[in-house]
Amino acid sequence: MPVPHKLNINLGHITDQTLGDNVKELIENAHMIYNYILGLGCRTIVCGGQSPSYYCLAMMNMKIYNPEVLNIVILPHSKGGDRASYCQQYNDNQLYSQRLKEKNIKLQGKIAIIDGVQSGVGIIALESALKHCYGKNINVIKIAINSCEGISEINVYKEFVSRSAPKFSDVFMRLIPHYYPRQFHNSEKFITNFIGLEDNPLAEMVIDLAKQYPEHRVEDSDWFKLNNEITLEIEAERQYEKLNRRDFTITQEQAESPYYTPIIVMNQNNQKNYICPVCNSRSGTLAVLYPTQFSYFSHHSRCPNALKIPME
Ligand SMILES: [Zn+2]
Repeated sequence: MPVPHKLNINLGHITDQTLGDNVKELIENAHMIYNYILGLGCRTIVCGGQSPSYYCLAMMNMKIYNPEVLNIVILPHSKGGDRASYCQQYNDNQLYSQRLKEKNIKLQGKIAIIDGVQSGVGIIALESALKHCYGKNINVIKIAINSCEGISEINVYKEFVSRSAPKFSDVFMRLIPHYYPRQFHNSEKFITNFIGLEDNPLAEMVIDLAKQYPEHRVEDSDWFKLNNEITLEIEAERQYEKLNRRDFTITQEQAESPYYTPIIVMNQNNQKNYICPVCNSRSGTLAVLYPTQFSYFSHHSRCPNALKIPME
């Protein structure tokens, strides 16, 4: 049994998420995605590279994972942003097919490819390679795991949002080596299992937590507690997020009116000040004197009252 400990891992670009938050999101999403694909009646999940690899590692260690019903197959297939010409794609597919046959890779039933999807070039190239090898009639769906909604430029069957996806894709230790078309002739580089698990403490944490999920919530674990250090930078990001995600909802009627009713307070000199009831910003005394001069008012940049006139 691994002993939970604090991991010394570079988080890359700082967000409002601690390492613990990243892993919690990963585990929860992995469980949800596996269940979802199971519900679609798929028999195979293709893990097409590094982006979905930690999600697949988590799924493969969960109690719900049953390869007899829904198997996970790791097929590294790296593709830059460039779309290959038809001839190039055909040649790539020929070589890739040879590698699949050599390793006797079997894909059962309906197949779901999961990957980070932006331009879509990578996932489409992998789909094309699978159809080349197993026949055009195989049933393949594309499922995206992206860091925010709507960034997929191609149609996918379903897009899951996992804010920490870029960390597992680009920052943390790789689980699947690159395998570029120029390497497709090379059998040795076609590695269809996770690499370096024995020297990867993050993978150890993920595996241990996945085994206990969902019976034990990630946030209750020692792993989470020990890796949930909220540094000053993370706290600053949280404050920023909070401000930016603030929901300034007003009613339809309020939205249509050119006026709003301010909260009236008195300053130290017993002069009137207005506080916006929506964004809570307090304006100075000039705003009271010149209620139609927007430049005298303070509002949050997204406040719906910003261009409205206060009426007592
Ligand atoms: Zn306001």
